[in-house]
Amino acid sequence: MQFRRKIIMHEVRPKKFLGQHFLKDHNIAKKIVGALNTVAENETILEIGPGTGVLTKYLIQKENRNIVLIEIDRESIAYLNKHYSTNHIKIIEGDFLKLDLMNVTKDEISIIGNFPYNISSQIFFRVIDQRKQVKEVVCMIQKEVADRICSPHGNKIYGILSVLIGAYYRTEMLFKVSPGVFIPPPKVDSAVIRLTRKPQSNLDCDEELFKKIVKQGFQNRRKTLRNALKPILLPTDLTADLIFDKRAEQLSIDDFIKLTKKIQEWKM
Ligand code: SAH
Repeated sequence: MQFRRKIIMHEVRPKKFLGQHFLKDHNIAKKIVGALNTVAENETILEIGPGTGVLTKYLIQKENRNIVLIEIDRESIAYLNKHYSTNHIKIIEGDFLKLDLMNVTKDEISIIGNFPYNISSQIFFRVIDQRKQVKEVVCMIQKEVADRICSPHGNKIYGILSVLIGAYYRTEMLFKVSPGVFIPPPKVDSAVIRLTRKPQSNLDCDEELFKKIVKQGFQNRRKTLRNALKPILLPTDLTADLIFDKRAEQLSIDDFIKLTKKIQEWKM
């Protein structure tokens, strides 16, 4: 084991700017892969940032699944091609943030990965934009971000991602992971979460406006919505409504939908 790890470290040097922290604990890798629970036969699993393939190794044990890897790091790509090309997996060298999932498959996709922490929020925004195709996500991220995503309203850590992800996906905190199981260890704690898409894929409101209100509302989270939403230029007779006395963090996802409908009706 020790010997193999040395070989990997030699072939792929961890690069900080790519958020590379390689998982060395295989039991955790197995647990993460085991947490994917909606993927059926012949469906596609996309792994973001496979690195040296610690998750990939267990993913390929799932039979009759189409496995696709996207990795930005050339050294990791060379490593993956050398060690995984014999299996039925497709390896893409590229940036997930620029990937159109329709180019991977026209069907539904489950996503897995130990995400590069520096771009995890951007990854989630891409997932939300392509939610019609993404039915499940199992990922390791910074614990603090995981806590935010899974937080209920009425809480200081509840924010944009809690609302935007929670509107479309059921969120679950699965387990925490300490820095010591990575090479090199990150400075923060990690956690694994699962997102399972809700059956109803559309919200009962103008979804673009919803997104705008959520983002604007949390931009000045200490202000009342009446003040925080000023850039949206709402008339005073509308903002006299008591809901505008509240702050964004006090609104549940349903409250945000109701608020969006109110503003929408006024705009029509
Ligand atoms: N899955 C591996 C590596 C996790 S580290 C493990 O658990 O050990 C995060 C990985 O994401 C790195 O391999 C890094 O190169 C890759 N990565 C960083 N930015 C990326 C991007 N924009 N698109 C795809 N992969 C990316």
